[in-house]
Amino acid sequence: MTEEARWWQTPVEYIKGVGPRRAELLRLEAGIHTAGDLISHFPYRHLDRSRIDLAAELREGQAFAQLKGRLTNIRWVERGPHRRLSATLTDRSGTVELTWFQGLKFIRQSLVEGAEYLVFGRPVKLGYTFSLAHPEMERTTVGGPVRRLGLMPLYSTTEKMKKAGLDSKGLEAIIRRLLDALPFTFSETLSPDVVASARLISRHEALRQAHFPDSQESLMAAVRRLKFEELFFLRLQLLRLNLGRKQEKPGIEVVRVNRLVKEFYENHLPFRLTGAQIRVLREIREDMATGRQMSRLLQGDVGSGKTMVALLAMLSVVDAGFQACLMAPTEILAQQHYFALEALLRPLRVPVALLTGSTSRSARQEILPALAEGRLPIITGTHALLEEEVRFHNLALAVIDEQHRFGVAQRGRMWQKNDIPPHILIMTATPIPRTLALTVYGDLDVSLLDELPPGRKPVITRLLKETQRRELTALVRTELEKGRQVYWVFPLIEESEKLDYTPLVRGFEEVQKEFPGWEAAMLHGRMTPGEKEQVMQRFATGQAQILVATTVIEVGVNVPNASVMVIEHAERFGLAQLHQLRGRVGRGAEQSFCFLVASPGLSREGLQRLQIMSQTQDGFRLAEEDLRLRGSGDVEGTRQSGNVRLRIADLSRDLDILQEADACARAVLAGDPFLVSPLHEPLRRTLHTLRQAESFWKNIA
Ligand code: ADP
Ligand code: MG
Repeated sequence: MTEEARWWQTPVEYIKGVGPRRAELLRLEAGIHTAGDLISHFPYRHLDRSRIDLAAELREGQAFAQLKGRLTNIRWVERGPHRRLSATLTDRSGTVELTWFQGLKFIRQSLVEGAEYLVFGRPVKLGYTFSLAHPEMERTTVGGPVRRLGLMPLYSTTEKMKKAGLDSKGLEAIIRRLLDALPFTFSETLSPDVVASARLISRHEALRQAHFPDSQESLMAAVRRLKFEELFFLRLQLLRLNLGRKQEKPGIEVVRVNRLVKEFYENHLPFRLTGAQIRVLREIREDMATGRQMSRLLQGDVGSGKTMVALLAMLSVVDAGFQACLMAPTEILAQQHYFALEALLRPLRVPVALLTGSTSRSARQEILPALAEGRLPIITGTHALLEEEVRFHNLALAVIDEQHRFGVAQRGRMWQKNDIPPHILIMTATPIPRTLALTVYGDLDVSLLDELPPGRKPVITRLLKETQRRELTALVRTELEKGRQVYWVFPLIEESEKLDYTPLVRGFEEVQKEFPGWEAAMLHGRMTPGEKEQVMQRFATGQAQILVATTVIEVGVNVPNASVMVIEHAERFGLAQLHQLRGRVGRGAEQSFCFLVASPGLSREGLQRLQIMSQTQDGFRLAEEDLRLRGSGDVEGTRQSGNVRLRIADLSRDLDILQEADACARAVLAGDPFLVSPLHEPLRRTLHTLRQAESFWKNIA
């Protein structure tokens, strides 16, 4: 081990200024075990302490203020049984109040009436003046602060740590001492070609400047360098894993036969495929013919026609003499797929079956042997397909629709259905930004359906307030009179783990009262699969014109004549979810509408979210906004795949750096896939270290 590696592993209790008790706290409260962990505990922000605020210019909500002024009127204030200490600080613009509640005796003794102080704290408005509770105080000498204060690091700590002197200041002192006494220069982890092409500062410089920057610019350069490094190695590992998978995992070789595909294409295709559908199909079919296993993510915005891609991919597999399955996250969706596939495949005389949790015993007894003996080429269903007793004769392709409802473990179970794992095609409408998808689904190839079928009109989206309900009713009635159908969605209220259906049921009654001439139906998750199917059928066939529902209709439902989507309490939904809901309309040639009804007392953030909805239909843009507003932890799809935990980079903010790091990692691997070039020695060494640090892998799903 090098001196540096040994230093990096130094247990915290041996670091100057720490000791056993604080070491324990650092480990338990902050997960800091070693010197390396401590250096990687980066400040969450820096405060510019070279700036002096003026009392008259303080703003409400300002996180911190630094003032310089004369201290007067030090006094005791009695409030019932409580006593506090107050003082007034006066600068050339005005005054602020300073207050203390604890440690009063000691503080009182240290304050000098009439002296000039540099004061630092959080200003809170009380009446007309601002007040700072327990501010940091420092006497100034005549003409300025006692020491030069630049960018001050702020470290996250906990209450327990603070009590042991490990507040931000305490951590700062320990880290500063550690860096000042460093007996070597931090070695470079990136290779010179990468450093040069991404224009990065050295790692040694970055580690110091990230804590104690000389300027705003050097702070930014340091943070960018460290984020880049983190994301670069994340991508490098995943890309290499992907290379490895392609070389190692054999797959079923699906040779091109083109009998059924050709017949379907020439005689039964109900429309012309879009350019994107053709391209993606080619990608899938080429991938399945290589003899290696395909693991492909098909991303396509709502309504981009993923089902047809799945159908044609499955037909290619059947052409080659294999079986295929299509798995959906809900009963409703599985049924819908079944009806659609059955109708399309009937003229080809390709049998299809449906298997869900509510499939009857007798139906099962027919389906299961047919599947095991290979008489049934295509099956669609829910997770029921993953059950032990479901055996295939020769499953070559598993299509998984709307994957974000499936966990990674379930994906794995699909692989075990054959000796040779089937090809996997995961279809999702959740428009995870491509770069994030790359990171989250690191082991998958990505195909993009980035074109909607022609003739789609953008959905007119309007934000309505409770007071505009009359107008809403009139708008909906106009559409009903034209023969269109309407979705009316209510959020489910979660009350201490119990779901409350009252708003939905009330809403249903209101809708029935408001539109007496039309037939309304109600759909929610607590109904039995049979009931759900009945309701969906009534709506799909037009017997019911209004479907009052919870978000069970969110994913995938396809009723082209439905052209109005009303969403009650729209602010309770995330952008991704609203986009999914809106995607249920605008599927036919008619002009469609989406009405977002906002509750009274909408927050600013809520309003912002709904306004974005009415401004764009671009799922990717919405996803990025969602990411920005909520952070990557909340993006659909990242949850089940296990969040990628990072020390310094933040996937919701650093997409641009991720993109750059990804491009760099690809460029390196394109020229030197096994990293054998001496130039790439630092990369090899770092990957080796990362592999040893098991924790890195634990953080990736
Ligand atoms: P999603 O990608 O959201 O699953 P679907 O597969 O449900 O979308 O397709 C949405 C609608 O568009 C369906 O009614 C489907 O029949 C239709 N569709 C799909 N591809 C085309 C196409 N190339 N041209 C016209 N309509 C299409
Ligand atoms: Mg779909």
